[in-house]
Amino acid sequence: MAAGFTVEIEQADRPIRVAMGQTILEAALAQGVAYPHGCRSGNCGACKSRLIAGEVDLAPYSDFALGAAERADGLILACRAVPWSDSRIAWLGEDDLIVHPRRHLDCRVVRLDDLTHDIKGVTLEVRAGGPFVFSAGQYAAVRFGDLPARDYSMASTPDEDVLVFHIRHVAGGGASAHVANALRVGDPVSLEGPYGTAYLREGHRGPILAVAGGSGLAPIQSIVETALARGMTQPIAVYLGVRDERDLYHEARFAALAARHGTVRFTPVLSDAAMPTARRMGYVPDAVAADLANLDGFKVYTAGPPVMVDAVRRMVLARGVREADIHADPFFTEAEKAKLGDAA
Ligand SMILES: Cc1cc2nc3c(=O)[nH]c(=O)nc-3n(C[C@H](O)[C@H](O)[C@H](O)COP(=O)(O)OP(=O)(O)OC[C@H]3O[C@@H](n4cnc5c(N)ncnc54)[C@H](O)[C@@H]3O)c2cc1C
Repeated sequence: MAAGFTVEIEQADRPIRVAMGQTILEAALAQGVAYPHGCRSGNCGACKSRLIAGEVDLAPYSDFALGAAERADGLILACRAVPWSDSRIAWLGEDDLIVHPRRHLDCRVVRLDDLTHDIKGVTLEVRAGGPFVFSAGQYAAVRFGDLPARDYSMASTPDEDVLVFHIRHVAGGGASAHVANALRVGDPVSLEGPYGTAYLREGHRGPILAVAGGSGLAPIQSIVETALARGMTQPIAVYLGVRDERDLYHEARFAALAARHGTVRFTPVLSDAAMPTARRMGYVPDAVAADLANLDGFKVYTAGPPVMVDAVRRMVLARGVREADIHADPFFTEAEKAKLGDAA
């Protein structure tokens, strides 16, 4: 047999053989597998796939096609992926493959809210460049003034007229410090998107577990409210992990959702309470694990600090959730993304 590796593709009826130095997409197409693809040059993301087992090298690709958080989440581009071992991959299924037109929007701040001592609610109205169509759970690259663009998840639902973001002030940060200290109602803001694959799968009928850390509640709120607005009736367990009482927000909002929809349960978990409290204490993945021993059939949405998202991922995998049913958005900062790049 010629030098190379065997690659199993979840959706194909037979494995393919990939020669040394060949990409998975080239080999698949040459061997008659109708692998979804677009530009074949790492720029469009149409061949985005999940690497389930094995090792691949990725030739250079654009950030638009595959974000650092997606790469860290186990996604690859088949058109850039050269295997280094026998591997198993799956292209993102039909249900997963929602591609909304990418827009460049000019917006204006119409409202600012102090959600906690360090999280601002920022509401934008779109002035030009729309319509902005996105799926609940997606994010946009947002630019405040001359500062570099940063990724922020939409907390609003796709059906709302305005776009809402929850932006936490990161110590030493640029964009988030500007939002915390200088942003005013009426300021112009530009935005590009939508991006991201950790969005609500509206066809799913099984239970939903949604775990947020801090401002990770933004995409989780959009997902939960959209699911309810679209008439999804399965149980939805929402957990919000924060350090202390002062970091909690939108508790009343979720309590109202739970009162209106018996299917929703909202559990705040404090990891580092300074005062005695009747609230649930501990690390949020541990609280979920204590409550839900078997997660078979669940879909899991999780967003927030990368360490927490990773812990949630490992915990739910151990409790029977399939990799394909985990939709995670680790909120990597630029410094953390650079570290990932160095480690690659
Ligand atoms: C997909 C995605 C969605 C996100 N959604 C949200 C959201 O909804 N809400 C939210 O609050 N955040 C979200 N984030 C995080 C957000 O994008 C920003 O990373 C965060 O707001 C910090 O940006 P900043 O410009 O304030 O900080 P930066 O200027 O990027 O600095 C961040 C940290 O890195 C340090 N730093 C900066 N430069 C360097 C360097 N060269 N070397 C070492 N350290 C350095 C800074 O001191 C600071 O501590 C998301 C991130 C991703 C990837």
